[in-house]
Amino acid sequence: MFELPEYLTLAGQMRQSLMGKRILDGRLGNSPHKFVWYNRSHDEFASLTRGKEVGEARARGRWLFVPLEPGYVLVFGECGGRIQLHPEESTTPAKYHLLLRFEDGTAVSAVTRMWGAMELYEKGRELERPYISGMRPTPTGGEFTPAYFRKLIDVSIRTEKRSVKGLLTQDQLVPGLGNAIAQDIMFRARLNPKRPLASLGVEAIDRLHKAIVETVAEVVREGGRNDEYDLFGRPGGYVRVMDRNAAGRPCPACGTTIVKMQYLGGACYYCPSCQVGKAAETRKA
Ligand SMILES: [Zn+2]
Repeated sequence: MFELPEYLTLAGQMRQSLMGKRILDGRLGNSPHKFVWYNRSHDEFASLTRGKEVGEARARGRWLFVPLEPGYVLVFGECGGRIQLHPEESTTPAKYHLLLRFEDGTAVSAVTRMWGAMELYEKGRELERPYISGMRPTPTGGEFTPAYFRKLIDVSIRTEKRSVKGLLTQDQLVPGLGNAIAQDIMFRARLNPKRPLASLGVEAIDRLHKAIVETVAEVVREGGRNDEYDLFGRPGGYVRVMDRNAAGRPCPACGTTIVKMQYLGGACYYCPSCQVGKAAETRKA
């Protein structure tokens, strides 16, 4: 599944390579898939996209916004799979969930694994959509400061019990993160996935904040993770430290064997020595 760095990579590439292209025709999927969420009929999508021009794409959380000027915004949300530019229409996949053919002979296809939203809104209405409206600050935005992050944790622990992994992967408390990038963030912050948020001291909270910002920035610099593809069909350059290949191998920092654990709906990979599990660092006022 795409996470924030992959969406940022796609948005940047779309700004460079798609802006100004005019749509010859737009089609929704020819391959039925019940976990692709559309908000338009095939005919509606075709007539609303015809002749529109691609504007300046941007990403926020796990959402990608592609303006179709004048007046509309195409939204991809919480998808995995491929969103790919084809230099010639003849190279588009036989099965797709969305296809835009442009007047210059190029095309963009989207194929999702698992699930995802592919919706077309009148400009501005996309901001009213659940999950987009009221989205919290994302790690690449100016509002995502250490002070904001401390407050987010303070509010979380007042109302519920949550662990470090829960904070990173549930309810989009930190929009854009998912199970993949969370593993490296927790390793970088030296925190165990099960570590209760309520046990984190100010120093550990700031370390976690820094790990989030730095990890996201590094994955973006590398053009996404190496198990996801960019707009040109190339894998990203970021190789995760803590993924399934790490299990059973020595920790790159201390040599202890990396452990795999199923927790909160996905596998975790962590170093039992580096990533502190108990409240060894006490919370200060
Ligand atoms: Zn270690």
